[in-house]
Amino acid sequence: MICEKNRALLKEKKVFLFDIDGTLALGDQLISGTEKLIRYLRMTGKRIFFTTNNSTKSRQDYVNYFARHNIRIEPDEILTAGGLTLIFCREHFENKKIFLMGTPSLKKELEDAGLLITEKYEEGIACVLVAFDTTLNFQKLEDASRILSDGRVIFLASNPDLCCPTAFGAVPDCGSICEMLKNATGREPKFLGKPYPDIVNQCRKTAGALREETVLVGDRIYTDMACAENAGVEGILVLSGEATEKDAMNCGLQIPYVFESVKELYELLSENECRVRS
Ligand SMILES: [Mg+2]
Repeated sequence: MICEKNRALLKEKKVFLFDIDGTLALGDQLISGTEKLIRYLRMTGKRIFFTTNNSTKSRQDYVNYFARHNIRIEPDEILTAGGLTLIFCREHFENKKIFLMGTPSLKKELEDAGLLITEKYEEGIACVLVAFDTTLNFQKLEDASRILSDGRVIFLASNPDLCCPTAFGAVPDCGSICEMLKNATGREPKFLGKPYPDIVNQCRKTAGALREETVLVGDRIYTDMACAENAGVEGILVLSGEATEKDAMNCGLQIPYVFESVKELYELLSENECRVRS
């Protein structure tokens, strides 16, 4: 069916946030419609952001990935969980010591931004920051537990994902490391990635956009659609990745738009016929 009202409402949005894996890309391939949709949104003056909880790739990795598929994107259009963590730490922990459990590349990024990073127990630490950590060992877990035993120290985590997909299956991600620390200390971290609203709020702040002017397009209900709801913006679910239409109907969230893929979204926006949930 054609829903002129919904089409008109979507066309009025000014800021489009996209999840990447399962929404715009699957492995090495772009999902059909991605190139046309991005081109269309740029042509019509929309602001675009690419958001991901994947903290194993840098912004430049994503710029290069899309460039290989003839799509030019700017580094400041990409907000990864790692990037969001950097922004948050600059805002809250400038000139304060941060105990990091993360990759060497995240450590370098934080240090390059002028932040005070340590990976050992010492006096005067203001924050324990946990991210995907390929250098994790027991000493770090012990040090983090000791630091967190002081209730004044902030417990911060880049993303809540329990595991990170690999070629053979999955390995523990940031959320699983936090579970160990939570069991040991009774402390709950503040998570930054999806489904928490900070990533949307940061994009809105950069674009100067209101909630009602912003939409989040993604393929996962419990991260992308929950993030949209938590941030008070409308969500667009695409069925090209993890979620099915049945999941969408049974999830208990209000998802205003469901499309087979970004191709269908492109067709709706560029005024072809499409299906919209009412
Ligand atoms: Mg996804």
